[in-house]
Amino acid sequence: AVEFRQVSKSFGQHAVIRQVDLSIMTGEVVAVCGPSGSGKSTLIRLINRLETVSDGEILIDQQPTSALKGAALRQLRTHIGFVFQQFNLYAHLTAQDNVSLALIKVHGWKKKDARQKAQILLERVGLGDKVLHYPEQLSGGQQQRVAIARALVTDPSIILFDEPTSALDPEMIGEVLLVMQELAKSGITMIVVTHEMSFAREIADRVVFMDGGQILEQAEPEVFFTHPSHPRAQRFLQKVL
Ligand code: ATP
Ligand code: MG
Repeated sequence: AVEFRQVSKSFGQHAVIRQVDLSIMTGEVVAVCGPSGSGKSTLIRLINRLETVSDGEILIDQQPTSALKGAALRQLRTHIGFVFQQFNLYAHLTAQDNVSLALIKVHGWKKKDARQKAQILLERVGLGDKVLHYPEQLSGGQQQRVAIARALVTDPSIILFDEPTSALDPEMIGEVLLVMQELAKSGITMIVVTHEMSFAREIADRVVFMDGGQILEQAEPEVFFTHPSHPRAQRFLQKVL
């Protein structure tokens, strides 16, 4: 479970997240949407400490995280996968080595065992025949599926996505959403920043709408898409739907 308690984040004088309270249950799939600059990326980057809170506290499975350092911080990150918009794969490593790297470097696994696990995860995302390909030999959709396999390699209980389909050509979005849909059924907690309203509508358990660093509305997708209550959510939906 992930719990924000009165969390604020500023960059210099600029308040980007403002006194956010948010509770996400284990196994829940949450879609975060809102206009550009509303603080969506910052919100999820705070969860795995790519950013640190300026005020308030984020609890992961009841444990406060703001003061974690060193081994405890690495442990937290092992527990939380992150998938970026731009895949961020290592160009000089094969798909298999991209996926297995953390197991070898951070967790001291033997190369053979780590590669075997990478093979299984790449099969799970439909890339069992591409394990020895380099990123440049893969399509955008395939690269993003490698990135998802990589995020899963430490068996995280939470996975964060920051606009995972925004950098993809339209014909590749479906294959990535399909993998995410399968993942959603697996019981992992998913927090997904997305402009993909079909994902939010069909796969998410809950939609969180942000603007100006605050959560203005959260609701089940059916309710959010048919009867948004906040005027800014209504305007946002008029633009994107
Ligand atoms: P988008 O939909 O465009 O990705 P977003 O909702 O993800 O937007 P954030 O990236 O969280 O928005 O940014 C929120 C605000 O914080 C923006 O005004 C942005 O300029 C600012 N911001 C984000 N990261 C930093 C940083 N490292 N330093 C200074 N300002 C930042
Ligand atoms: Mg963003």
